[in-house]
Amino acid sequence: MDIRKRAMEIQDEVVANRRWLHQHPELGHNLDGTVSFVREKLTEYGYTPVDCGDHGVTATVGGKNGGKCILIRADMDALPLKEESGLPFASERDNVAHACGHDTHTAMLLGAAKLLREMEDELPGTVKLMFQPAEELMTGARSMVEAGILENPHVDAAIGTHIMAMLPARKLFYVPGPMFASCDMFTITIKGHGGHGSQPQVTVDPIVVGSHLVTALQTINAREVTPGAVAVLTIGCFQAGAASNIIPASAKLMGSIRTFDPAVRELVKQRLKDITEGTVKTFRAEAELVYDSETAALANDPATVTFLAEALKKILGDDMVSDDLTPFSGSEDFAFVSAEVPSGFFVVGGAPEGYPALPQHNPKIRFEEDAFVSGVCAYVGGALAWLEANR
Ligand SMILES: [Zn+2]
Ligand SMILES: [Zn+2]
Repeated sequence: MDIRKRAMEIQDEVVANRRWLHQHPELGHNLDGTVSFVREKLTEYGYTPVDCGDHGVTATVGGKNGGKCILIRADMDALPLKEESGLPFASERDNVAHACGHDTHTAMLLGAAKLLREMEDELPGTVKLMFQPAEELMTGARSMVEAGILENPHVDAAIGTHIMAMLPARKLFYVPGPMFASCDMFTITIKGHGGHGSQPQVTVDPIVVGSHLVTALQTINAREVTPGAVAVLTIGCFQAGAASNIIPASAKLMGSIRTFDPAVRELVKQRLKDITEGTVKTFRAEAELVYDSETAALANDPATVTFLAEALKKILGDDMVSDDLTPFSGSEDFAFVSAEVPSGFFVVGGAPEGYPALPQHNPKIRFEEDAFVSGVCAYVGGALAWLEANR
């Protein structure tokens, strides 16, 4: 099969599916309509879709000739914001919009599913589809991994994609190593002892303790992490008190840590704990440190992603697949898959023609629909080439 030709032939259907999804966005794990749509399409293409995790869907194709198993993944959730794209198929829901392009990922993976089903008898292995919920919450991939998506049959490798409107349309980009940062979100509650603003001697002031703590945490980057290594620790929220003459009983700090290297991530988390405990002890307070979410860095397996990139160059052209990309300081919860199996993650350039290229999550964002052909090829061509080479 000429994959690129076939991907172009089904482009109208991929676009139609995408526009329906775009018009009917849903959030997080609350994806009833989206999941029904995906299940309906998969059934139409001859699949037996299975629910997996909290509002995830999976299905497999191939396996008639033995071989290994590769997983291809799309996310399905939207964002809580009001769409201002001006598109005729804009969201019909208030304050819910596909401003990260996950609708395009779902449509591209459905397109890939259709093509893979057409060539099922010749597939040199098994392809497992992963339609995941709640990427934006960083809980969707985890729920499917915990529900066993990587077993029965065992997954040997994986491919993920993400469209981005600020990169040239139709091109694929990758990094042969860490590509998206880890992200650990935490809340520290400092417990002091409240009282009258005129009598600090009988209180433990959590605002003073918290102020020392925020300052002390800056030394992790300045004095402890190897110069040149990436580590960002941000306190984005400091809440305490309600009046000028009351020393409050507690204070709340919320922050995030981003790194690319697992060892640096461990160091920062350890020192956050140590410095928090030490600082509050110094000032006679107590603290509770809780992680609200923990996502590892998404790291491509260099050999796997390079192999996939070379295979995709043969389908799309040498100049259409590039490793000229700086790793992103944002996070991707495909990291829960790439931590378990050798993976290749590709960004699909989606800059729209005749419209500004906007950052992800912008309410006015648009994506170039012609780019979907490259995404379908990344899934189908990547999976086929990998199964063929590893049969
Ligand atoms: Zn996003
Ligand atoms: Zn996204």
